[in-house]
Amino acid sequence: MGYGTEDITILAGGPAGLSVGYYARKNGLSFTIYEANNRVGGNCVTLKQGDFLFDSGAHRLHDKDEEVTEEVKNLLGDELHRVSAPSQIFFRGQYIDFPLSPLDLLKKIGPFEFSRAGLSFAKARVSKSELDGSFESLALYRYGRSISEKFLLNYSEKLWGLPCNQLSPNISGKRLKGLDLRTFLIEATLGKLAKTQHLDGSFYYPKMGYGRVVERMEEFCGPENMRLNHRINRLTHNGRQIQAVGVDGSDRLFRVNQVVSTLPLSLLIRSLDPAPPAEILRLANSLRYRHLRLVALFLDKPSINGNATVYFPEKTFPFTRIYEPRNRSPYMSPPGKTSLVVEIPCHREDAIWSLDDSGLVNMITQKLVEIGWIRADEVLDSWCGRLNFAYPILELGFEDKVSDIADWLSRFDNLSLSGRNGKFAYTHLHDMMRFGKDIVEKQLALVPVA
Ligand SMILES: Cc1cc2nc3c(=O)[nH]c(=O)nc-3n(C[C@H](O)[C@H](O)[C@H](O)COP(=O)(O)OP(=O)(O)OC[C@H]3O[C@@H](n4cnc5c(N)ncnc54)[C@H](O)[C@@H]3O)c2cc1C
Repeated sequence: MGYGTEDITILAGGPAGLSVGYYARKNGLSFTIYEANNRVGGNCVTLKQGDFLFDSGAHRLHDKDEEVTEEVKNLLGDELHRVSAPSQIFFRGQYIDFPLSPLDLLKKIGPFEFSRAGLSFAKARVSKSELDGSFESLALYRYGRSISEKFLLNYSEKLWGLPCNQLSPNISGKRLKGLDLRTFLIEATLGKLAKTQHLDGSFYYPKMGYGRVVERMEEFCGPENMRLNHRINRLTHNGRQIQAVGVDGSDRLFRVNQVVSTLPLSLLIRSLDPAPPAEILRLANSLRYRHLRLVALFLDKPSINGNATVYFPEKTFPFTRIYEPRNRSPYMSPPGKTSLVVEIPCHREDAIWSLDDSGLVNMITQKLVEIGWIRADEVLDSWCGRLNFAYPILELGFEDKVSDIADWLSRFDNLSLSGRNGKFAYTHLHDMMRFGKDIVEKQLALVPVA
């Protein structure tokens, strides 16, 4: 098949683009994926250094869509394991269960602080008048000042790079679900039995890293359907349909039938030719993204702790989360050794984004030595990387901007959107697979039967 004759042209080969290709192939539709990088997988890959495997940040399969989970099980067969590992918050030198649990809090922060937290928790329920639509006011309303300030607000500010009174409540996803007054009281009175119900320590994970899900989709899509090193920079249109796409470094245009864009939404808008109205461009340019620096340390010791993930809300730590790959699968590290992957969210203007690798490794190592996790001489090797466009920043009012842009784009009857940044929504791999499946099913209804 030549360029431009396929049923679906897919812009970018992260999990979102690959999911569209995967379902297209399953259903006999032809497609081409245009990917800027020299590999597909986007921000969802498993990397290898020496005998160590590690993911691009702490990943797990969110078992939220039964049909998609079944699809992943079929895709991976016996590579997929059910893992049981809790997550905790590191706070004032102690490990606190996450999601938060009253009994555990009582034990860790002591009866005085616990009563203060309990009082402010109960009091918070009646100050509804202060709700202003921001994440901060929702957190204060639902959890009270004491718990919010300790565990939610500082952490969220580090992750998203904005004060919480400027963030949408959507940033919490469904993670805070288990923590409400009812659970708090039930657990405080019924104890341990009730406690375990909202601890989220069990999940699916592939033996050789989360990137295997994406690799299996890549294999299924087939290399003949990928155009690597093709950075999309132009989408020509006639006001009703996208007609062709152009790539960096070439004047050639590739004709399209149906197009699925998983490019960051603002980039898609800027690439339209002719350009959209100034207001749409302004809205698109006001959307912001959060980036991540990642550091992996490969260690000459068998284990740090048993956690899937440890969260660091305190501002004295430049990172938000650390995960130990071997706690998700023992195959991620050679016997007797372990590793840590550290996530440092930042803006590209921040000094840490351009800090040289050795400076960053030293800074992280020093912090981990200070908290007693490692000794400097246990670090065998390290790896540093940058994840571009890790998160769409869900500022207050972002939903209206995105919906205005989507409304304007709906004039193109051959364009669909998918992807975390493509739809500007805090979504995960299972969402990408759902979007891919739905988009392909819609296309199937449009393609004439031969
Ligand atoms: C730290 C972190 C933790 C995560 N944890 C989980 C988890 O636990 N579970 C889970 O399911 N998901 C998780 N995710 C989400 C997952 O990794 C994917 O990033 C997410 O599903 C988004 O996929 P995507 O394809 O939309 O975007 P991306 O993964 O960002 O891929 C975008 C692709 O677009 C390409 N591209 C960019 N510009 C162009 C251009 N002009 N032309 C062509 N190609 C271009 C890029 O090279 C890239 O390949 C996590 C993500 C991060 C960052």
